[in-house]
Amino acid sequence: MENKLAIFGGSPVRNTALSYGGQWIMDDEVEAVLDTLRSPFLTQGPNIEQFEQVVSHSVGTKYAVAFSNGTAALHAACYAAGIQSGDEVITTPLTFVATSNAVLYQEGTPVFADVDKDTYLIDLNKVGQLITPQTKAIIPVDFTGQPVNMRKVEQIAKKHDLIVIQDSAHSLGASYNGEKVGSVADMTMFSFHPVKPVTTAEGGIIVTNNEEYFEKLTLFRSHGITRNPQLMSKFDQGGWYYEMIELGYNYRLTDLQATLGISQMKRLETFIERRKEIACRYTEAFKVYEQAGFLKCPLQDPLANSGWHLFILQFCLEQFTVGRRELFDALRAENIGVNVHYIPVHKQPYYQRIGYNTCSLPVAEQLYERFITLPLFPKMNDRDIRDVIIAVDKVINHFRKR
Ligand SMILES: *Cc1c(COP(=O)(O)O)cnc(C)c1O
Repeated sequence: MENKLAIFGGSPVRNTALSYGGQWIMDDEVEAVLDTLRSPFLTQGPNIEQFEQVVSHSVGTKYAVAFSNGTAALHAACYAAGIQSGDEVITTPLTFVATSNAVLYQEGTPVFADVDKDTYLIDLNKVGQLITPQTKAIIPVDFTGQPVNMRKVEQIAKKHDLIVIQDSAHSLGASYNGEKVGSVADMTMFSFHPVKPVTTAEGGIIVTNNEEYFEKLTLFRSHGITRNPQLMSKFDQGGWYYEMIELGYNYRLTDLQATLGISQMKRLETFIERRKEIACRYTEAFKVYEQAGFLKCPLQDPLANSGWHLFILQFCLEQFTVGRRELFDALRAENIGVNVHYIPVHKQPYYQRIGYNTCSLPVAEQLYERFITLPLFPKMNDRDIRDVIIAVDKVINHFRKR
C-alpha cells in the first residue's frame, strides 16, 4: 500500500467520505411512518403517548414528555425547575451550546465548572466551590455517552437543595453502577437528532418521576394550554373550552416522528452493542500508540456502562511535528469524517460578549486543543472501521517525532 498522505497528493485510504455519525433506518420503519402518514393524526395523535411510554418504561421512570427537539426539552426542564433571572445553574463547558443556552432562555446564569482530565466529565470536586445562595440547579452532561456518577451529584444537590437536570443527549441506554441513565436525576433529557443513540429526525424527551414537573413540562410544550378541569378557573363552559394558564411554546413532536421513535427504540440495545464493539476495536488498535505516549483513548469509569456516542482520541501534541489542525486535515483528506467535540461553550463569541471573557477553565480548554473525534455509529461496517484505523496509523506514522 502506498503511504503518501492524501493531503500531500497520495491516494486516500478510501474513495468515499465516511461521516462521523448518522442514523440507521430500516425499510419496515419507513413503512411504519408511511402508515402514520395515511392515518387521521399527523400530530397530537396516539403515537406520541406510546413513544413516551416506551421511553419511560425503558429507563424506569413514571413519566416522559416528548418535545420537538432536545433543546426545547432542556428549555422546558429549566422552566419546570423554576429557573429565572438571578438563578445560577452549574454545568460543564465541554458540551453542545444547547445545554447552557436553555438556562439563558429562562434568564438564568450558567456557571461553568471545569472537567475531570481523565473522564472529561464535569469535575464534581469543583462543583462545591461554585455553589452560592443563588445556585438553583446543576446540569451534568454525559459527554461522549459515559454517564456521570449521579448518586454523587444527588448528594451535592441534597446538601444544597438543588434541582438536578441531566443532559443525557449522548447516553440513552447507558447505565452507571447498574442504574439506568434517566432513573436518578429530577429530570433527564434525551435527544433524538440523527447522530444520537436513536432518532426521530428532530426530537427530544424529558423523563421524570415527579408529577409536578410532568404537569409543567406538558403545559410548556403546548402554549401553556390545558383542558384539565382541575387546573382551570372556570367550570363546564362547553366542549370547545380550554384555558391558557401559563406562557408556553409550541414544542410538540409529530406523530410521524413518534412512530419512527417507537421502532427505533426496539433497536437501541443492538445499536449500543455495535457502538461498544467499534469502540473496543479502536481501543485495541490504538493501544500501541497509547503505550508509546502518542495519544490517549477515552478513559472509562469502571462503574460506567457507556452509550459510546463519541470516540475521542486525545493527541499528545508534544510527540508530533504538527498541531491538531494538521492531523485533523490529514485525516479528512483520507476521507475519514473526523470531528471535534466541543469548542468549550464559554469560548463562543456570544458567551464572551455576555461576560464569560474572564472565565478560565484550563482543563477543558487544554483538552479541546488535543481532541479529535473518530467516526462511530452503528451502521459502520467492518471495512469502515478498518479504514479509520488504517488512516489514523498512516497519519500518526507520518507526523510523529521519531
Ligand atoms: C444534541 C445535544 C443537545 C440538543 O439536542 P437537539 O435534539 O439537537 O436539540 C443538547 N445537549 C447535548 C450534549 C447534545 O449533544
